[in-house]
Amino acid sequence: MTAIANATNPEPPEDRGILCPKCGCGHFRVIYTRKAARGRLVRRRECRHCGRRVTTTEQLLGAVSTPSDDRDRSAE
Ligand SMILES: [Zn+2]
Repeated sequence: MTAIANATNPEPPEDRGILCPKCGCGHFRVIYTRKAARGRLVRRRECRHCGRRVTTTEQLLGAVSTPSDDRDRSAE
């Protein structure tokens, strides 16, 4: 396993690290995804086994993105 420098982020990594608080399985399906502040994503998930719904957030670490980069496509 590769250790990822994630110690400063108290939030769980997306998908694989999340376990259902009710049945303990790790299989969720995403009900919806929406954007939140500072480029974060909020995902509503539902356990495939027991139907328990949880909310997770996802954020790119170590980068403050600048949306203006997307405009530079003159090289196409
Ligand atoms: Zn469950």
